[in-house]
Amino acid sequence: MSAGDPGLLGPPTAPGPTPPTGPARERVIDLQGVTKTYGAAEVAVHALRGVDLVVEKGDYVAIMGKSGSGKSTLMHIIGCLDIPSTGRFVLDGVDVRTLDERQLAAIRNRSVGFVFQSFNLLARTTAQSNVELPLLYAGVGSRERRRRATAALESVGLADRASHLPSQLSGGQQQRVAVARALVTDPALILADEPTGNLDSEATAEVLGVFERCNAEGRTVVLITHEPDVAARAKRIVRLGDGSVLSDERLAAVDAVPSGAVHR
Ligand code: ADP
Ligand code: MG
Repeated sequence: MSAGDPGLLGPPTAPGPTPPTGPARERVIDLQGVTKTYGAAEVAVHALRGVDLVVEKGDYVAIMGKSGSGKSTLMHIIGCLDIPSTGRFVLDGVDVRTLDERQLAAIRNRSVGFVFQSFNLLARTTAQSNVELPLLYAGVGSRERRRRATAALESVGLADRASHLPSQLSGGQQQRVAVARALVTDPALILADEPTGNLDSEATAEVLGVFERCNAEGRTVVLITHEPDVAARAKRIVRLGDGSVLSDERLAAVDAVPSGAVHR
C-alpha cells in the first residue's frame, strides 16, 4: 500500500442516510446484513445470520447473549480481526471490504483499542512498557511513546505504578493497565470482550469507572458482558441470539454523561 492510498488514508466515506430519529452523528460502526459462516456444506456453522448494527460516535454499548450466540465473532469482525462472509462493514468511515491484510492491521491499530478478559499483558514487562507497545508497533519514537504512555497510565489512575510488573499489581490494576494500553493510540473505539469477567466487584467498579470516563470524553465503547449489572451501566444493550440481534435497548442518550463518570 502506498502512503497516498485513498482506501485507508483518504477522507472518510460519506455517512449513510440520516437515521429517522435524532441528529445525524458520525458512525463509528456500520454493519449491514453481516453474516459469518465457519466451514462449508453440512459442517457449516452460521455464527452470524445477517446483523445490522449502527453505533454512533460517543455511544456506550453492551453486547449480551448466551454462549455460542455469536458475540465473539461479532467482536472479531468489528475489531477487524476477521472479515464478514457477506454483508457490509464500515469502521470509522472505511469500508473494510476494500482493505488487504496489511491495511486491516493498520486500521485495527489506528481505530480500535482492545481489552480482553485475561488482560493479555506481557508478564516480564513493566506497566509503562506494556502501555507503550502499540505505539512501538505504530513506529512512534521513544520520547513520544514515554510521554503518551505516562499520560494513559495517569488517565487510569496508575501513574505511580508505571515501573511495576503485572505480577506486582492486583487484577483490577492489571486490567486498568490493559485499558491504558488500549487508549494510548487514541482510538475511535474501545472494544472489550468480557473485561470484568475475571474481576471481583471492587475491581469491576474501578474498570467500569475508567470506561465511563473514556466515554464521557467522547470515546465510543463496545463491551461484551454476561453480567446484567455491568450491562446496566452502558447507554444501550444489544442482545444476540443464534447469530441475530434479538433486541436493541436504549438506556441513555448517546450524548448523556455516564453515571459513573463523575467519580474519580
Ligand atoms: P459467543 O462469543 O457468543 O459464545 P462465538 O461467536 O464464539 O459465540 O461463536 C458463535 C458460533 O460459531 C458457535 O457455534 C461457535 O461454536 C462457532 N464458532 C466460533 N468460532 C469458530 C471457528 N473459528 N470455527 C468454527 N466455528 C466457530
Ligand atoms: Mg465469546
